[in-house]
Amino acid sequence: MDGLTVAQAQDYVLGAMQILGAESIPLQKTLGRVLAEDIRANRDQPPYDVSAMDGFAMRSIDVANVPATLEIIEDIKAGGMPGKIVGAGQCARIMTGAPLPQGADAVIRVEDTQALTETRVQINVAVKPRNDIRDRGENMKTGEVVLSAGTEITPGVVGMLAMVKRASVLVYRRPTVAILSTGDELESLDDPFDPNKIPDANSYALMAQVQALGIEPVLLGIARDDPDHLRIMLQRGLQYDVLLVSGGTSVGVHDYVRPTLEELGVKMLFWRVAMKPGHPMAFGIAPLTWVFGIPGNPVSSMVCFEEFIGPALRCINGYSRIYRRTVTATLTRDIKHRHSRTEFVRVMLSREGDALLATPTGDQGSGILRSMAMAEGLMIVQASSKDIEAGRKVVVQLLDGANCQVESGGDW
Ligand code: AMP
Ligand code: MG
Repeated sequence: MDGLTVAQAQDYVLGAMQILGAESIPLQKTLGRVLAEDIRANRDQPPYDVSAMDGFAMRSIDVANVPATLEIIEDIKAGGMPGKIVGAGQCARIMTGAPLPQGADAVIRVEDTQALTETRVQINVAVKPRNDIRDRGENMKTGEVVLSAGTEITPGVVGMLAMVKRASVLVYRRPTVAILSTGDELESLDDPFDPNKIPDANSYALMAQVQALGIEPVLLGIARDDPDHLRIMLQRGLQYDVLLVSGGTSVGVHDYVRPTLEELGVKMLFWRVAMKPGHPMAFGIAPLTWVFGIPGNPVSSMVCFEEFIGPALRCINGYSRIYRRTVTATLTRDIKHRHSRTEFVRVMLSREGDALLATPTGDQGSGILRSMAMAEGLMIVQASSKDIEAGRKVVVQLLDGANCQVESGGDW
């Protein structure tokens, strides 16, 4: 085997990760973070039995035979409290969310009634006891754990936190991340156009991949293929929780990243993975920093991020769901697979009836960033796989941007 398998390399990386402690932040900033504390309800919600409808609260026994005429004894608004007891032949006009008055055991919605006068209503439909009543505490009960530590904060969770009046919440700290590109051939975004240079795409693609996880990385710029300059730049990077170094991890004579990292005390755990693209992928541990050496080819860089760094950062963030969601799709074109490495094929997804189709985005060279820019997923070809024919079922990891679709998906 030419390096570790992807799974072995993931084990090394994820086995080295840990959560970095917790911090208290305002509720307004919690989306995408992970709870570091159990959250308990501080009240019953709803605080009493309330009406689920705009309608009338009455005794169900009084409307066993319909139509039935009832006397309206009061109006109860949401936020108001009942002042009277509903007796035989009586009802109260009630709004959604308003407390159920004493004596009443059911609510009938206004659509099933007919106003006769200001104080009399005709009930047209018989209802069972507890009809259209929301039970006290059906949403949450005082003291009950409603969200547990480790929960990823989605909009629904933010709503729950507001419902228990948590203005600030304890969440796991996010890692600081630095990105360093290396290579004498690179031209930075601010440099004047030079036809002989290659624009530094990796710093920015990696930046965006990190940002997609809610972390704002620091771009350290470009290190030259010169051990002294590289050492200074790497030393800067080693002040962050995570350092991503792009380029220079291979075995070329100017690939100084690995020896320089080792010289700086970084313990390298691996530097080759049997995958395509992404073969010269390295991982090491420094006292303060997890270091990823990422191959310079732009697609390799992005794929290595997907397979190792994304899951690692999600782990540090405190997520339990650290891997990309996978789907099964039908391949639309033949795929050649000659390598004994796991291959990640850039694909677009489409729907045909019930079938999800995966179509390669074009030439799969590891420098062809366009085909990554178009990709909605990475189709996984196992190392042991032979060529795969069109029509076969394949596994696809969904990338950022694959969450929504053009069609609504149904006629509803
Ligand atoms: P390396 O891993 O340093 O051997 O680089 C492999 C290939 O990726 C070379 O063709 C580089 O020019 C290219 N490359 C390296 N770093 C970057 C970068 N930051 N942005 C775009 N291309 C890069
Ligand atoms: Mg290089």
